[in-house]
Amino acid sequence: MKKIAILGSTGSIGTQTVDILPSIEAEVVALTTNKRIDLLEGQARKLKPKMVCAFDEDAAKALKTALADTDIRVLSGMDGLIACAAESGADIVVTAVVGMVGLLPTMAAIGAGKDIALANKETLVCAGELVMRAAREKGVQILPVDSEHSAIFQCAQAAQGNRLSKIILTASGGPFFGKSAEEMRRVTREQALAHPNWNMGAKITIDSATMMNKGLEFIEAMWLYDMRPEDIEIVVHRESIVHSLIEFEDGAVLAQLGVPDMRLPIQYALTYPARVPCKVPRLRLSELGSLTFFDPDEEAFPALTLAKLAAERRGNLGAVLNGANEAAVGLFLDGKIGFADIAERVREAMRQIPYRRVLTLDAVLESDRLAREQVYRTV
Ligand code: MG
Repeated sequence: MKKIAILGSTGSIGTQTVDILPSIEAEVVALTTNKRIDLLEGQARKLKPKMVCAFDEDAAKALKTALADTDIRVLSGMDGLIACAAESGADIVVTAVVGMVGLLPTMAAIGAGKDIALANKETLVCAGELVMRAAREKGVQILPVDSEHSAIFQCAQAAQGNRLSKIILTASGGPFFGKSAEEMRRVTREQALAHPNWNMGAKITIDSATMMNKGLEFIEAMWLYDMRPEDIEIVVHRESIVHSLIEFEDGAVLAQLGVPDMRLPIQYALTYPARVPCKVPRLRLSELGSLTFFDPDEEAFPALTLAKLAAERRGNLGAVLNGANEAAVGLFLDGKIGFADIAERVREAMRQIPYRRVLTLDAVLESDRLAREQVYRTV
């Protein structure tokens, strides 16, 4: 039985991970939330982990009271997250927390020799160089949960040691596909929160609307598959059926297809290399009729250009891009800035924060902090 720790078990990916557990042979040893303690309490009573963590201190106190009749250890804060990742006895850690908060627990889990089912893309965006180096040194596997990166991973099983010459990342294009840069200025919070294909948390839904999500995934793919940015292409595919593609040196292109449902990539990360039955509805191509593909419009979606720049220049620019984006998305969700301001704030932070070529964990944390401060300064 595989022992699993789920960081962020009450979020969109976390709850879907819990949902597929009956399909796989697994024992849950740790669960964490930020502050959704009612949901976490229910999960903990059902799955009986050794330890749980609420990141928020007040929530952790309430959770401790709620679980007082059990022998589950209740932890809090970053120390608690790190303990759940590295000291819960897990074989594999599902990192489904949102944002940069996932970095330290992921590094701790790698340091403790745990495999990672990576759903927290911000970790690789901020510190891909450090995370991948640590994983190589410790001999741990980074198994992608993101649907696009899982698709690439699944296709790459056919590589047999051959080099990938190209990665083609598909993007749904979000709710604002086809809008001009000018129209994008008038987008409202409600419009941005309504995604056509995927049901996700608020942060990633906004990232999909700005296409920063695809930008983050571009950087994530670069690190996961050791690709040059010029060998990664983004193509808009409205139907979200082709989850991504790879190309080999001979020009052969392989794709992974399926209905848009995260439970399959989550399950594959946990059962790899085995495949077991999954609850996801089957694909019926003739019902779809046709699939469409378009080049992305970088003028209307400048986040793509910014992410590519961060990928090319590496160093601390990924951390700056991500920190500024997290802060700006928060401001947009609070109604403090407009939709088009999100990318503008990110661009400004990338201009203002000093470039650091050599990346250390401290440099990542410092760059993240400076980027957020820069964004908040201009409200
Ligand atoms: Mg994705």
